[in-house]
Amino acid sequence: MTTWVDLESYQPVAVKMLQHSITRQRIAHAYLFHGPPGTGKQEASLLFAMRYFCEHIDESTAEPCHQCHSCKRIKSGNHPDLHWIEPDGQSIKKDQIEYLQKEFTYTGLESNQKVYVIMQAEKMTVNAANRLLKFLEEPSRETVAILITDHAGRMLDTIVSRCQRVQFHTLSNLHLYNQLVEKGLTESTASLFAAMKIDVDQAVKWNEDDWFAEARKIVIQLMDRVMNSNEEGYLYLHQVYLKHFKGRDALEFGLELLLIWFQDIVSFHLDKQGSIVLIDQKERLEQYHYVVSLSEAKTLIYEILNTKRKLAQNVHPTLAMEYLILQLQR
Ligand SMILES: [Zn+2]
Repeated sequence: MTTWVDLESYQPVAVKMLQHSITRQRIAHAYLFHGPPGTGKQEASLLFAMRYFCEHIDESTAEPCHQCHSCKRIKSGNHPDLHWIEPDGQSIKKDQIEYLQKEFTYTGLESNQKVYVIMQAEKMTVNAANRLLKFLEEPSRETVAILITDHAGRMLDTIVSRCQRVQFHTLSNLHLYNQLVEKGLTESTASLFAAMKIDVDQAVKWNEDDWFAEARKIVIQLMDRVMNSNEEGYLYLHQVYLKHFKGRDALEFGLELLLIWFQDIVSFHLDKQGSIVLIDQKERLEQYHYVVSLSEAKTLIYEILNTKRKLAQNVHPTLAMEYLILQLQR
């Protein structure tokens, strides 16, 4: 589990600001944690909540004890007064905010203190946002809202203006890589997750899930087939690839891996071997960079990004992927 000290090593400004507001007891009703993915916004929310509910508070520090019943319940994800809201499908709906507010009204008897964290807050519908606004304006309750977003620009001004903004800055890949290796990930997995800017806690979770290791293997095998023969890639897409990458998130993840594969080819062309992400595939990639020219690699990167857009626009995934494979096979 992350501590403020860990987080401070890569987000000094955000952490100082939060520590300050905790130790001086100037906690805002609502915070907006914004910044790119993988910059510690979720970890900061957890630490904040832990300190807020901690049973053994040391007033001189913002660090929670990490040991008490409350701290442990937050760690294991079942503290009754800490609520997480995530998009239900494509958006966060009014019902979700209403449900939360009802919950607060009925269960706030023993303790008035509640923290709720809204993930991907930019996905709130206008109705949900308006509902939340009313809630934020009620001064009676001891609630703290933490809104998390990678896209602060897409939030309603009316919401943003009521939140204390805390900006999280982009991490260097190297920093994230070192953290992941420290957490016990292999160098090749750490390199991949760092390049994808995956949060440390998320990366540790994914690392224990065989799906991700398998996904990586399948993408490499797909590219072997695409590079070596004209039809095998297409067959492999149907026989293996699409069976593994099911659903939008999985397909997007697959496309991210393909992007990294081609970016590595580009790195070879530019003589930047040091920035290769798939570090255990160096020899393979070196061979393939003789097959794919720099301009071809750039065109194919464009095609992959285009496929991502198509998926976001609900083009049928099989069609979008088939088209992409045909482009890659040229
Ligand atoms: Zn505690």
